[in-house]
Parts: sequence; C-alpha cells; structure tokens
Amino acid sequence: MNRYDGDSLKLKINIKPKSVEIRNLSKTYVKHRNKGDFNYAVRNINLFVEPGELVTLLGPSGCGKTTILRCIAGLEELSEGEIFIDGKKINNLPPYQRNLGLVFQNYALFPHLTVFDNLAYSLKMKGASKEKIKKAVEIIIQMLNLGGYENRLPQQLSGGEQQRVALGRSLVSEPQILLLDEPLSNLDAKFREELKGELRKIIKALGITSIYVTHDQAEAMSIADKIVVMKKGNIEQIDEPVNIYRYPSTEFVANFVGKVNLLPAKLINIEGESILIDLFGKEIQTKLSSKVQNRFAKNDKVYIVVRPEDFDLISKSDNDCLIKGRVDSVDFQGELIKYKIKSEHGMILFVSIQNKVETMFIDESKEVGVKFNLNPLFLMPTDS
Ligand code: ATP
Repeated sequence: MNRYDGDSLKLKINIKPKSVEIRNLSKTYVKHRNKGDFNYAVRNINLFVEPGELVTLLGPSGCGKTTILRCIAGLEELSEGEIFIDGKKINNLPPYQRNLGLVFQNYALFPHLTVFDNLAYSLKMKGASKEKIKKAVEIIIQMLNLGGYENRLPQQLSGGEQQRVALGRSLVSEPQILLLDEPLSNLDAKFREELKGELRKIIKALGITSIYVTHDQAEAMSIADKIVVMKKGNIEQIDEPVNIYRYPSTEFVANFVGKVNLLPAKLINIEGESILIDLFGKEIQTKLSSKVQNRFAKNDKVYIVVRPEDFDLISKSDNDCLIKGRVDSVDFQGELIKYKIKSEHGMILFVSIQNKVETMFIDESKEVGVKFNLNPLFLMPTDS
C-alpha cells in the first residue's frame, strides 16, 4: 500500500492544475444481446480542458454527461477513444490509480462516522499518521467553513453541510482532477443558490481542474468557465457561458440555455457587415454580428436571435414598432415582468421587462407593439 506523503499537505491550497483531454471517445451499450445491436451513450467526443479550468457538461437527461464522467473516472470501459491527464494516457489505469476526486449528488457519506472521520477516511486507508490526518482534516474544515461540526454525524447536518463534507472528503487526498455529478441537485433551491457560489469560489481558489455535470442551465451559467452543451451523446457547442447564451450555434443550444425568440426573416442584401433584412414585411438595415460573418448569402432564410430581455414593449402605432401583437399572459416576478405576446402572425414572443418604479404594467389582452434594437444582429440558419 502506498504510504501517505504528509509533506504534500502544503499543496492543499495550491494543487498543481492538470489538463484533461478526451479524444474520439465513444461508449456503446448492447441493445439486444442476441442481435449484436448497440446504442451510443456518447459518440466521438473531443474535449480539451485547460489546467485549472472549471468546465460544465450541460444537457438534458440521457444525453451522456454522466457517461463521460464515469469514463474519465475509469468506472466504464471505453468503446473507442483515449483520455489523457496532463498529456499522459490513462485508459489503462484502474480507478484507484487515477487520483481523482469524485463528488456525487447522493453525498454517500458514511452515516455512522462523524464529520471528522468521514473526512479522514481516505487518508486512514492510505496509512497516514494520526498527526498528519489531523492536520489535513483541519485544513479542509477551515477551508469549507465546517468548524464546530467535527463531531456531528451526517444526519445531524443540513443537505448543504453534508455536500460540503462530501466535497471535503474528495479534496483531502489532493486529487489531480475533481469530477462533480449534479452535486447540488438534492438540495432545496435556497441552499443550492448559496452553495453554488461557494463551490465555484473554493474550486477556483484551489485552482483544481474540474468537470461538473448538470442539467440545470442556470447552474452551468453561473458556475462554469466553459460550458459543453450536449445532445443525444454528441457535443453541440463548447464556449464560455456568455457566448453560449448570446451566440448559440444551434437551435437546440439557443432553446436549452434560457428562453429565446427565433424570428423567421430573410436576408435581402448583404455587403460585408452591412445587412438588409426582411422581418414580417418590414425592412431592417443593420450590421451582422462578427461571430457569424461570411456564413450567410443574399436571399438566405434565417432566424434573428432575440432574448426576451432584448425586446421592448411600445405602442403599436409607434414608428419603431416591428411586430404588432396582443398580451397573451403576464407573469409578475418582482424584479422582472414576463410577458407572452401573441403576434399578429400567430407567433408567441417571450418578452421580459425589468421592473423599475416607473415601469408601466400592461394587462392581458391589450394590444402592444414590440421592438428590439440589436446592432449587430446575431443570425442563425433556419436548418441549424
Ligand atoms: P442524467 O442527467 O439523467 O443522469 P446523463 O446525461 O448523465 O443523464 P447518461 O447517464 O450518461 O446520461 O446516459 C447516456 C445514455 O446511455 C442514456 O441513454 C442511458 O440510458 C444509456 N446508459 C447509461 N448507462 C447504461 C447502461 N449501463 N446500460 C445501458 N444503457 C446505459
């Protein structure tokens, strides 16, 4: 058995960040044992995670997020592909030699052990001395703000506290990489909100490369340096949260990360960055976003991508009115007022207005005009 090297304790708050690379990863499961049919859980996944980066895998249930995590952890045999940590191939290493920290949704704490003993467990198994274990656990307790809880049993802790212990337990043996699978999904909304910020702070302070699985787009947006959006075993887009939100590369991504309005339009003319566009019979002269330049040609059918907060409600007789409609429903949420507007062309538009003191509240069934002032415009092909 490897002895625990107490000197590396100094690294506790200064873990050397490692890169993770996934090349052409596929994982299949047999569908019909006798027919040799199989399903892809994930297919031809390529991903590079920079040292110290916090990447989230985001997508609906069954899209393959957990499969990727389990492949990195060595809990699944790859059907195809390679995985590297810091440039070293780890395909053939058993899970316990990969030195990864795993945090799952069902904390999996030992119910009969105190917080201290839960945290100490892996170091004890590695044969560390009592003194070194004490020192390591104290650092973790301090780091995760668990002082005073050392002698409590898991059932005497809140969900958020239990999840912090679970995180501490995975950090105490200084993993190369942290893998987190829906770590907040068992918590109620308030704790989730609190722990989300804390988790990111701790992970970034440690500088540990982390891969974080979630199906919650808001969680991914607020926690990640980079988001990997997945659909049916494939990667749809990899980018920073703000780019995923503002410049989605497919309709699926646009719809998955918050509400979006995809307005069908036609490019009448395009000259460099300058575009003339037809939206429901109205001509708009504007600029095309540099993110999608050279991707469109004259007469292309496109979607104009408009987030609810980019719309304004005005009088339908206003000169700036682009689309006329009627208020279909109003959802008052305090700081925001969310409207659904049924346009005269039968399209439902999502409009979200910041509620300020002077904001007018518009009742259901009222006729309104909708405008947006996006320059440059981000467009998407209609067949994305
Ligand atoms: P969730 O958010 O619901 O956990 P996920 O995105 O993590 O979903 P995976 O658990 O990775 O999805 O599953 C991907 C696909 O592989 C699913 O269609 C699932 O049914 C299938 N799958 C996963 N494990 C197995 C298995 N052991 N045998 C057969 N199919 C499996």
